[in-house]
Amino acid sequence: MRRTYSLAASVALLLLGQHAGLTAQNLLVHGGTVVTSEGSFEADVLVRAGVIAAVGRDLNAESGVRRIDASGLLVLPGGVDPHVHLGGRWVDDYRTGSMAALAGGITTISNFASAGRGSDLTEVIDRQAALIAQQAIADVILHTTINDPEAHAPQMGALAATGQTSIKIFMNFGGFDPNASAFLQMIAAAGDAGVLTMIHAEDASILANQAAELEAQGRTSVAYQPEARPALAEEVAMMRAVAMAEQTGSPVYAVHVSSERALRVAQAARARGLPFFIETRPIYLHLTRERFDGPDAGLYVGQPPLREQSDQDALWEALANGTIDVVGTDHVAYSREDKLDPSQTITNHRAGMNHLQMLRPLLFSDGVLAGRISVERFVEVTATNPAKLFGIFPEKGTIAVGSDADLVLWDPEETRTVRDQDMFSATGFSIYAGWEVTGWPVVTLRRGEVVFEGGEITGQAGTGRLLERSRWEER
Ligand SMILES: [Zn+2]
Repeated sequence: MRRTYSLAASVALLLLGQHAGLTAQNLLVHGGTVVTSEGSFEADVLVRAGVIAAVGRDLNAESGVRRIDASGLLVLPGGVDPHVHLGGRWVDDYRTGSMAALAGGITTISNFASAGRGSDLTEVIDRQAALIAQQAIADVILHTTINDPEAHAPQMGALAATGQTSIKIFMNFGGFDPNASAFLQMIAAAGDAGVLTMIHAEDASILANQAAELEAQGRTSVAYQPEARPALAEEVAMMRAVAMAEQTGSPVYAVHVSSERALRVAQAARARGLPFFIETRPIYLHLTRERFDGPDAGLYVGQPPLREQSDQDALWEALANGTIDVVGTDHVAYSREDKLDPSQTITNHRAGMNHLQMLRPLLFSDGVLAGRISVERFVEVTATNPAKLFGIFPEKGTIAVGSDADLVLWDPEETRTVRDQDMFSATGFSIYAGWEVTGWPVVTLRRGEVVFEGGEITGQAGTGRLLERSRWEER
């Protein structure tokens, strides 16, 4: 029996080896301009078995190695998006989410694994791992969403042992305030275990009070969403998030910061040397609250809502001066019909929009080409910083010998009009349809495999991996 088993195992390994050889072929990307967060330089990139083997001028490769001509193109590290929602009630799963990501130059995506009351976090991770093994094309990291801090704080060591070293908590739901003490203990336990806490900072009591006032005035349609979720709610929650980081000494990452008032609070925490990190998302950089004056307000409903031009200006300034760490999508996929459903209200609606394919092209166009941020900073906030903060650097997030060959050949001069039919998200549309955007991925490699080329996804579902991540103190 034993002999038979080991024979079968070696055959399986042999087949696996051949499979890996086929997909992660050796190749040479030549003639391009390599961009990392540190600088830009002309260099070839030699890839062997999915890993970067050499970076330099005029590299030679043995015959038979595929050569990809990158002249006139930028060679960027694959994007890392740490804020993606897939599966469940959303129409994108790991497969279509991967497709949208890869077509947009993002090679590592994430998902939130919701931990039910009293659940075992290792099992929560295992269930997602099984789906990733079937569906993913991009590589994946997971954050566990905590609703039951008393049950889950003692499991932080076990969670870290799974290799998924981040959690998320929501201050905007009614469950936070009655359990504030337990959540504080939770953040302390996370820090002790080397786990990063992500926080959605909006104050539940301010939101409830504001909604009641608007309801009393009959102003309940989604057109009032900006009024329903004022910057005050975000600012005061951000103060508490900072306080929780300071009290525990644990690292805290504020997701989707939208307003100048909340941004200033978070920036002050960083200036005091706290381990406090700031993410924003594309809608706040490219859109303002005037979108809610039009007939399709539902398309733009997100939490927090779109803000004023002055908020947007503050976010761009923070992106340029290095006080925003990450631009993540907060990708949420609903159909256009569901987003425009007229029965939605300020308190009962479908929040969020699909964004994986558009994050990098829009940020390049409105950021780099508009002269607001450098191309190195573009790489830093879309790849290097998220890879570092979530424990996958230097395998991900840079172009260096030994790093995974996650590479995006990027045409900085190609201008395209965004069209719904070009979107790989299962929603089949983009809120940016009709926009002219310059700077697009031409070829995307994930661990040395061409997974997007010529406008087509060439990677197969099930080839994406759940990545093993380091603990905070090892970063
Ligand atoms: Zn989110």
